[in-house]
Amino acid sequence: MENIGHLINGKLREDNAGTQPVYNPATGEAIRELMLAPDDLVNEAVDIANAAFQSWRDQPAIKRARIMFKYKQLLEENKDEICRLIGEEHGKIAHDAAGELQRGIENVEYACAAAELLKGEYSKNVGPSIDSWSEHQPLGVVAGITPFNFPAMVPLWMFPMALVCGNCFILKPSEKDPSTSLFIAMLLKEAGLPDGVMQVLQGGKSVVDGLLTHKGIEAVSFVGSTPIAKYIYEQATQNGKRCQALGGAKNHAIVMPDCDLENAANQLVGAAYGSSGERCMALSVAVVVGQETADSLAAMLKPKLDELRVGAFYDNDNDFGPVISREHKEKVNGYISSAESDGAILVVDGRNPEVEGYESGYFVGPTLIDNVLPNMTSYQEEIFGPVMQIVRVDSMQEAMTLIDNHEYGNGTCIFTRDGEAARYFSDNIKVGMVGINVPLPVPVAYHSFGGWKQSLFGDLHAYGPDSVKFYTRRKTITQRWPSANVREGAVFSMPTL
Ligand code: NAD
Repeated sequence: MENIGHLINGKLREDNAGTQPVYNPATGEAIRELMLAPDDLVNEAVDIANAAFQSWRDQPAIKRARIMFKYKQLLEENKDEICRLIGEEHGKIAHDAAGELQRGIENVEYACAAAELLKGEYSKNVGPSIDSWSEHQPLGVVAGITPFNFPAMVPLWMFPMALVCGNCFILKPSEKDPSTSLFIAMLLKEAGLPDGVMQVLQGGKSVVDGLLTHKGIEAVSFVGSTPIAKYIYEQATQNGKRCQALGGAKNHAIVMPDCDLENAANQLVGAAYGSSGERCMALSVAVVVGQETADSLAAMLKPKLDELRVGAFYDNDNDFGPVISREHKEKVNGYISSAESDGAILVVDGRNPEVEGYESGYFVGPTLIDNVLPNMTSYQEEIFGPVMQIVRVDSMQEAMTLIDNHEYGNGTCIFTRDGEAARYFSDNIKVGMVGINVPLPVPVAYHSFGGWKQSLFGDLHAYGPDSVKFYTRRKTITQRWPSANVREGAVFSMPTL
């Protein structure tokens, strides 16, 4: 079986403090063996990155950007291989993997504008013959810790911008599907990135803890579940590091009685079940205003779900694949069972679907649960599976209160034809990313991504303009060149004009 190693100073290494299998979730087979980095390799990687930092930070931004131009081309040329790796270890169908990669590449395109983004600000004559400017300086060595559900896109949210800002980067990918992240990191060398500027360490908690406590790391970007995000944020900041930690989600769509219901139903199906519901922006709760609308929506959804094709990534006609692991499949099935025993109505039950030829895969079929109440566990917690729940309410205000009271605030959407209602909703809802008749309002690469409440810890959102702020520190320089006519004696009062 092939080993998955680390990328250290431009070379693959297999040092390990143990190993762990990586599974193909469609077949349930162990397909590769992951090397878990020992503590001394974490220290070595940080030392190498610190040694590489000075000359990398001194490169003109345009030269760093040129590496990203080449990198974008390499990602596109290697699209099939990247999608195959995503499919093999994550289970995502090829068309969905291609979408993930494309959204990642858009972050590389944004990073190509480094020279423009890092220009800074300049003011002439802030005082007599005094000029002042602010510049964005890189932080040093920064780390990224990423989740299983986007093994290409989420790392690409982080390292292209961190690198063009002049930092060195250490990536710790998810141990569940690490090959994609390692592969895309290796392409950077081919694009011309100097050795040691980008490295990959494989492993789990002990590697993460090693990075969080290491004095040579200046900042940590994290994306994953909320309990771990909280832990990372607390540990990183207690250890004096800058941190942004994006957490879990429970995304609601309000379905208004005046909306185009057929369109809303189609949009909901794609956004709830795409990628097996394993997206932090998956629309997992439809909050339907009015009993009649809810009855019509449930009746419309059922036949659509019956037609969905669930299977392995090899067949591009499938709509979605397996969930990530056997344990996760059991967890998702457990939420479905809990909703049923709490009194909700199981309209479509996806527990243990038959997928011919893939009987040992971790499949959950599309599931629709109606009459869900806010006190049910299946409503309160993130399921992260192909499960949509319908909560019935009497008014838009009731729907908004429900959303505002939920602990997560990542994404939300309203389906309506009423511009005034939509404007009120987007203006007042306590959620970070809002769609109006757009079910997955994932911001494009030149806007930043982030939720509110328990969906994000830290002050800045991920990628886009906020990433320049996150991956640099501001320095403001005030300059005067004394000459005969401006030379003056000591001044003891605060300088003013
Ligand atoms: P996870 O929290 O289990 O793992 C994320 C990363 O943390 C992995 O690299 C993992 O190795 C590491 N990790 C796990 N346990 C740890 C521990 N005890 N100490 C230190 N590090 C640890 O998340 P996941 O299951 O890989 O991903 C799914 C979750 O990520 C969902 O909750 C989803 O909503 C969330 N997510 C959020 C966003 C967002 O932008 N807000 C995007 C994608 C995924």
